Amino acid sequence: MKLDNNKPCILVSACLLGSPTRYDGKSSKDNLALQLIEFFNVIPICPESDSGMTTPREPSEIRGNKVFSSKGKDVTSFFVKGAEMALEQAKKYNVKLAVLKEKSPSCGFRSIYDGSFSGKLIKGKGITTKMLLSNNIQVIPDTSLPEFIKSLRKKDN
Ligand code: SF4
Repeated sequence: MKLDNNKPCILVSACLLGSPTRYDGKSSKDNLALQLIEFFNVIPICPESDSGMTTPREPSEIRGNKVFSSKGKDVTSFFVKGAEMALEQAKKYNVKLAVLKEKSPSCGFRSIYDGSFSGKLIKGKGITTKMLLSNNIQVIPDTSLPEFIKSLRKKDN
């Protein structure tokens, strides 16, 4: 990957950048996430597909300190491996900040699904989010992108 030495590196959930890496084979493309390219060297990560899970895949949710697929399979090891891979990327590129997709069992920041596959959200963080935060990497959820991009543009003027 070719880096611009004048810009810091940032990790961004690949699905926000338009990659069809979600469990349902779709993306969560967000035009504000694409604008990050103006300010950062953007390193896309998808902890779930990077760890070897197929796309599309069964949705997964966190229950206690484990992650289960909707069919009841314990998929914790994939989620932990994906988080470790994201951390490796962060260390490799000296990343201090990540922008991650809210509600995901990997990338969620304020809320995740409650583990019952009934669509109910609870307060909580995804496995990768926790891993990055515990290694002093700041995480911003995609829902905070409007204010974040605004603050970057203000600084630029
Ligand atoms: Fe997007 Fe993160 Fe889910 Fe990958 S694991 S599809 S990057 S929310």
